Amino acid sequence: MKVISYPNPVLLYKCKPITAINQRLRDLVSAMFHTMYETGGVGLAANQVGYPIQLFVMNETGSIEKPENEYVFINPIILKRKGNKIDQEGCLSFPGIYADVNRAELIEIESIALDGSIQQFQWKDRQARIAQHECDHLNGVNFVDRLNELSLHEIRGDLDDLQINYEGDVRLGFAPNAEEVNKRIAELEKQFCE
Ligand code: ZN
Repeated sequence: MKVISYPNPVLLYKCKPITAINQRLRDLVSAMFHTMYETGGVGLAANQVGYPIQLFVMNETGSIEKPENEYVFINPIILKRKGNKIDQEGCLSFPGIYADVNRAELIEIESIALDGSIQQFQWKDRQARIAQHECDHLNGVNFVDRLNELSLHEIRGDLDDLQINYEGDVRLGFAPNAEEVNKRIAELEKQFCE
């Protein structure tokens, strides 16, 4: 499983709700945790690995040795946001790019857990920031969409480089073109969202 880089269109896709918890979904969750640890992430949204569905995994410690910090979110909704805090963020889909992002300091988030139960958390600071970042992904919003003009200006060159890389990969057949991405999205939605 490979983490997809900006500006692959699946990262701009508004993911659809999951309709069934089955072995296919459990296998995907395991693969996502594996990929997240392998790439040094603390959270990973399904569309970052090409699945257009409302699912993300996180472990704020980023350590496979601390499974007690693992969370799986299926069809998450942020019910409440409180306060504001600016802190630096990066993203596995934007390798090497870091910027300050303003987020709610405290959130209340509800979702379905992998065992099918409803889970609700009141989180603040780091956990709240990661969960907001991942929920954004599922709505097709990336952290660079939340930057002010100045921060965006600072990373503009890096974003252009990612764009050029992606276009080169598509031309060479190393990355799917928009048509192929859309076809794959439709196939996966049939499997997970119908
Ligand atoms: Zn991200």
